[in-house]
Amino acid sequence: MEKFVDVILPLPLQASFTYALPPEMDGQVQIGCRVVVSFGRKKFYTGIVRNVHYLKPQEYEVKEVSAVLDEHPILVPLQFRFWEWLADYYLCTQGDVYKAALPSGLKLESETVVEYNPDFEAAEPLSEREQKVLDLLAVEPEQTVTRLEKESGLKNILAVVKSLLEKDALFVKEELKRTYKPKTETRVRLTEAARNERRLHFFFDELQRRAPKQLDLLMKYIELSGCLGGREVREVSKAELLKRSGATPAVFSGLVDKGVFEVYQQEVGRLETVSQAVMSLNELNVHQQRAFDEIRASFRVKNVCLLHGVTSSGKTEIYIHLIDEAVRQGKQVLYLLPEIALTTQITERLKRVFGSRLGIYHSKFPDAERVEVWQKQLSHEPYDIILGVRSSLFLPFQRLGLVIVDEEHENTYKQQDPAPRYHARNAAIVLASMCGAKTLLGTATPSVESWYNATEGGKYALVELKERYKEIQLPEIIPVDIKELQRKKRMNGPFSPLLLQYVREALEQKEQVILFQNRRGFAPMIECHTCGWMPKCKNCDVSLTYHKGLNQLTCHYCGYTQPVPRQCPACEGVDLRNRGFGTEKIEDDVKAIFPEARVARMDLDTTRTRAAYERIIHDFQQGRTDILIGTQMVSKGLDFDHVSVVGILNADSMMNYPDFRAYERAFQLMAQVAGRAGRKNKRGRVVLQTKSIDHPIISQVMHNDFEGMVAGQLAERQLFRYPPYYRLVYVYLKHRNEQLLDVMAQTMAAKLRAVFGARVLGPDKPPVARIQTLFIRKIVLKIETNAPMARARQLLVQVQQEMVAEDRFKSLIVYYDVDPM
Ligand code: ADP
Ligand code: ZN
Ligand code: ZN
Repeated sequence: MEKFVDVILPLPLQASFTYALPPEMDGQVQIGCRVVVSFGRKKFYTGIVRNVHYLKPQEYEVKEVSAVLDEHPILVPLQFRFWEWLADYYLCTQGDVYKAALPSGLKLESETVVEYNPDFEAAEPLSEREQKVLDLLAVEPEQTVTRLEKESGLKNILAVVKSLLEKDALFVKEELKRTYKPKTETRVRLTEAARNERRLHFFFDELQRRAPKQLDLLMKYIELSGCLGGREVREVSKAELLKRSGATPAVFSGLVDKGVFEVYQQEVGRLETVSQAVMSLNELNVHQQRAFDEIRASFRVKNVCLLHGVTSSGKTEIYIHLIDEAVRQGKQVLYLLPEIALTTQITERLKRVFGSRLGIYHSKFPDAERVEVWQKQLSHEPYDIILGVRSSLFLPFQRLGLVIVDEEHENTYKQQDPAPRYHARNAAIVLASMCGAKTLLGTATPSVESWYNATEGGKYALVELKERYKEIQLPEIIPVDIKELQRKKRMNGPFSPLLLQYVREALEQKEQVILFQNRRGFAPMIECHTCGWMPKCKNCDVSLTYHKGLNQLTCHYCGYTQPVPRQCPACEGVDLRNRGFGTEKIEDDVKAIFPEARVARMDLDTTRTRAAYERIIHDFQQGRTDILIGTQMVSKGLDFDHVSVVGILNADSMMNYPDFRAYERAFQLMAQVAGRAGRKNKRGRVVLQTKSIDHPIISQVMHNDFEGMVAGQLAERQLFRYPPYYRLVYVYLKHRNEQLLDVMAQTMAAKLRAVFGARVLGPDKPPVARIQTLFIRKIVLKIETNAPMARARQLLVQVQQEMVAEDRFKSLIVYYDVDPM
């Protein structure tokens, strides 16, 4: 009998599509395997088999599957359930989920651009088809799959491309140009002989007299490897050593010839192998032990536990103990972080304990690495622990037992664009419960929602940890009224005299300083000083952001850029100034006031690459930087030992944001930033500069009064119908023609009112009312949290269908944001 497969395509299509399975492929295909199918005009895609059956669709001509890519499924059955839940809850399609879920290398399509790997050496003879494709790429190293198909005349080229990818002969080209990591790396170490300290001192003396350059290089190696510190020795690559020391290869060879250095090849794979000795766990102190016991006990009765532990209480240590226990029981653990920024520090801590049982997964890794992690998770020897950002929820887990959501309050857990606009914390809880796993949410400043669920709502357990690890006290928070100081003209740029005094004291005592500037509202912009003109994006309804380093203006929504004009196009004035103070401006000011201080800046601009980010953190940790200036990024759970002063330059920009979460976020941010201050045996100081010194939040931050803050917020949320009492759904409408869009939005709002009544607000213009030449309107839906979401979805979809069924509304674009942040 003829067999059919239902296939999920990486397209925003409501349904899966049915294809016929040619007889020769019969028996090869299982649910969860990838197949190549054509869809639309001549395009082909990698689809995922959702179902195999014998029901011939009646309504349309069925096409055949072109090729089967996998012998074994690349998804585990449970993942389909998870995808379905995501699509359902977040009002998007499974195709949207599929696109977000798989790394590019696993979802080739005709538009995929592949790239020739110049370093490829075939281990075994290639097939004729493979060779043909490679030959084409050798001539022109970057081509789309479609083009290759045309040029080669081969059928089913995706299958060939796939096998070449597996052999590393090609790469999927990624938007961000990356350098490919070699598979082995030349590393340096001291020879057995030189590792003897007395011998090493002999070399020092020798080199000092005869070869000072070699001595410098040796010292650099010692610094980088930490080999004299009595700590574990860090492996150092030759390339890194040469780069960091500035030494020539000849100097390096000199040391090899003298028998000081030896080189060895280290397999770095793509997935870093760890050769470090695995260390045992730190012992928990009594408070940590109590929290640990309470968490374990809570898991016997609840699926989710919220750990509310003040900054530096040692939450991470508790996670490590829980992970250890889960792994011992043969379970897998997923450790989620809100952003890549944080993975570096935590990776080091986890690797020390779990070594190669730990895998890392995030979007700044080259796609090929992500594919490897994915494949490994399907194998018989998957990583026991995955550390990653939200996309790691999509990895196949075979025996997930525990999910840790660190810094659960962070709004970066929510994906904004494109669909699925999911919240990784909430999705993690669902995934865990599908797997029969437990979820631990950890933070010093819980989100109002999680707090509610752990208290009144009764859904989660709550465990509190109020003591900082060791004798480190919570910092002293000193509010400073900058409105008053500005009036008296006593501010020095963005700094109050008190803050400058503390910074000076810290520098004198060789301590470190963090200066925090909220990003929101302070995007650096150019303004004509004469007439007030500001450059705007021609596609979007926003001002362009000024990048001093590149001397250009950029739109953060559509990526449009233009050079900074020399003259104001409105009045021809030439006095164009940098408006507001972004972090760059602060950096300039700090350097002017403290010319001797070593200053670094951490914001979106300076951390475009992972390496850049890591360098900033590492330098600060190693005391190579005195003052770190940063946006939100510096608040995020980073753990530094020598910070004695934190300056919050302007608290008001956080509070005055028109968003019902502004208060909560301002509190979280300030509490988190403040938490970076404090050293062993010395209380940290936080200068909190504000123009609204009497605002209740200031005193709440001063006294770390989380419960006061949350009680006030919950009362307000209930009164004004916000989460956690109500669920928000934003309905966005987009169209090129603004007048028509207004009609559409009014019509749709009226239709929604007919079913949802007063739960519908709007339509309104969102703050950014035009993006990429499309105008935008927003309708807000507030639905009682206990109302069934499935029913609401049905109604919404129905209204949307009614809308686009009308001829004049055909080209309307509608999308949803459920639980918007
Ligand atoms: P949190 O995650 O709560 O902010 P961390 O787990 O980062 O706190 O702990 C803060 C610091 O205290 C870290 O440097 C950590 O290594 C140290 N620390 C915490 N608990 C212990 C412990 N039980 N043994 C040794 N060091 C600990
Ligand atoms: Zn002007
Ligand atoms: Zn734009």
